[in-house]
Amino acid sequence: MTFAQIQLDVPIEGPFDYLVGAHSVRRGSIVVVPFRNKKMVGVVEQVSLTSSVAAHRLKTIETVFDLEPLSQSYFYLSQFVANYYRVRKGEALFLGLPTAVRRVNFIDQFTEVVFKLNKAGVQEVGVNLSKRARGKNRLLDLFKEDRWITLPEALSAYSLARAELANWEKRGWIERRVERAVPKHDPNITNSDGQEGHTEVVLTKAQNLAVESVIAKLGVHQTWLIHGVTGSGKTEVYFEIMAEILSRKKQVLVLVPEINLTPQFEYRLRSRFPHQKVVTLNSSMTDRERFQNWQMARLGVAPIVLGTRLAVFAALPKLGLIVVDEEHDLSYKQIEGVRYSARDLAICVASQAKVPIILGSATPSLESYFNVVESRYERLVLSERPQGPLPRIELIPVDRSQNRGISPQILQSIKSCIANGEQALVFMNRRGYASALFCSSCNWVAMCHRCSAKLTIHKHTHRMHCHYCGYQGKLPNQCGACGNQDLIGLGQGTQRIEDSLKAEFPDVSILRIDSDTTKRKGAFMEMRGVIEKSEVDIIVGTQMLAKGHDFPNLSLVVILGSDQSLFSSDFRATERLYQQLLQVSGRPGRGATEGKVVLQTEFPQHPVYQSLIHETFDDFAQKLLTERKEALFPPYCFQALLRVAAKKESSVWSFLSSAQVKALKIKIAELEVYDAVPSPIFKMAGLYRGQLLIQATSRSVMRKFLNAWVSEVNAIKENGVRFTFDIDPIDV
Ligand code: ADP
Ligand code: ZN
Ligand code: ZN
Repeated sequence: MTFAQIQLDVPIEGPFDYLVGAHSVRRGSIVVVPFRNKKMVGVVEQVSLTSSVAAHRLKTIETVFDLEPLSQSYFYLSQFVANYYRVRKGEALFLGLPTAVRRVNFIDQFTEVVFKLNKAGVQEVGVNLSKRARGKNRLLDLFKEDRWITLPEALSAYSLARAELANWEKRGWIERRVERAVPKHDPNITNSDGQEGHTEVVLTKAQNLAVESVIAKLGVHQTWLIHGVTGSGKTEVYFEIMAEILSRKKQVLVLVPEINLTPQFEYRLRSRFPHQKVVTLNSSMTDRERFQNWQMARLGVAPIVLGTRLAVFAALPKLGLIVVDEEHDLSYKQIEGVRYSARDLAICVASQAKVPIILGSATPSLESYFNVVESRYERLVLSERPQGPLPRIELIPVDRSQNRGISPQILQSIKSCIANGEQALVFMNRRGYASALFCSSCNWVAMCHRCSAKLTIHKHTHRMHCHYCGYQGKLPNQCGACGNQDLIGLGQGTQRIEDSLKAEFPDVSILRIDSDTTKRKGAFMEMRGVIEKSEVDIIVGTQMLAKGHDFPNLSLVVILGSDQSLFSSDFRATERLYQQLLQVSGRPGRGATEGKVVLQTEFPQHPVYQSLIHETFDDFAQKLLTERKEALFPPYCFQALLRVAAKKESSVWSFLSSAQVKALKIKIAELEVYDAVPSPIFKMAGLYRGQLLIQATSRSVMRKFLNAWVSEVNAIKENGVRFTFDIDPIDV
């Protein structure tokens, strides 16, 4: 008898034994099994001739998906995720699978109903059809082709085809059939879907040096940090190295931090490599698309795979190189469920496959920078732009007499920018109109009833939004505490800036880009197009626009509201602010126009601003590293955070205190167990949240500690508590 050890995505430690029955399965096969009155998708981890459970007590595998089994390297990565991030093996194994294969009805999702005229239909349909019924005639022409027609095909011939086909069916004119179509990789798929428009660039000396350094060491695993100022041509360097890898018939994985950045990058890739198939992987595609692309990636068919963090799980069989663009970006860290860092996992993948990995950034994360200092990574520097100089940054003190919140000097700069026919970007990293609604008489502030957070005013829709849980409510016309009608909107958001600019420049076109205006799929792309075609003069936007984008006619960047981040309690706040400011400052002056950046502040003497203007990134990074070393913060220590959430506040504290007691009992040197504290947003979406921080001087100390502690925490009995381990947390 054959048994299969199967992993399921359930909150119990697997694997689970099943009888294989008449099926044929291997390690990596994806199957459907009965589990507690339900059917579930499982991954076969092992096939064996024995089981520790008596055979009559075991259930049998129901279905085996008609799919190539998961590869050894996929198992390796999942195992790494399970060990490192302290999650169950089953959970880790399912993390990287596209939704389509996580559903028991996998096959049904890919079935299609097709239609064909039968004999009666061929004779009778269209007998009395008027020539003027154009749509119906088109549908008829399609069905005369004597083959099976899909519904989408029919609909594209005639938009009312659904009703017409039902009509034909009623009269007994058509046959229908359900076709199973598991989209497999089609070997005939064209490998040239490139586009025209690639302009050859001659690499600069620094670019060439970077390319040659990497190519000289292709045979081994090496982590490279390409540290190049914004617009220094990092992408061209990746491309040149990729060309070499591709010529050796290997695959390249390119990661970008945000979905919004994929279309632009994809376009550049396709233009540069018109004869190579480029597939993308991100969470906004349809299940079918993502499944198909995942197949092409993991079966080695697509030479170039471009995606957001989930693409790191694609397990490319012919992997030759990984590129992580904008490696400092926080979006690489998953902040729900399994809290993995796609950048760190990418390094793990590259090291296992013994291939090079390139991390690229104008503002490397302090962690990566430290790894260069410690000689674990090798750095390649591009300190200049091949086209034109880097924009200058100018600090403009806030002018308190100004009620619109933008200083006259800045308004003047915008005016002359527009007069030159160029575009201005006004950067404000807060959406909404005002950040709080405040009563002038009793100091009441409108709070979300589900979160410990202020509600943001969205004036255009007359609503208040909670940016943490998504709650929305009507804008009140009187104070919730004293009834006073004189309510004041405090703080600036993008909507307010947009309004001020409209009042100031009534005749110019202004476009606001934030997550409110770009909710609809494709909206961001359309807006990008509008900017590129110079159909707008002023763009108001949040950090969505700060990264990676390249607008040729943009010559001025105005930064507002960055003072808000100066006094944060998060030890990483300075690093992040600096990175964000340098990134957004890098947007203008990428085309023919020279760039200029103005930053409005109440604190022009603040060290972050001063170093932005007077120092290099290296000066700044060295200074930060010294501070971190003195305070023993990462990268000079390793952190793990236990995050706990519950409806009852007391449950949070009692869980955390049990966890702390257990941690303190584990005697390991060079490890610090902190006290439990409330999370920065203590209550969110109705749940109270608290956390416990553990700090170790080395990874191995942390590992030893977690090996003992995690199972003890898992065993704590406390009703209604949810908890997760956050290894290498990015906000504590
Ligand atoms: P980064 O990725 O560092 O921001 P890009 O690779 O996007 O920089 O390059 C910025 C701009 O400079 C692009 O328009 C690119 O085509 C151009 N560029 C890059 N390298 C060169 C070069 N060697 N000569 C001329 N233009 C270049
Ligand atoms: Zn009041
Ligand atoms: Zn809320």
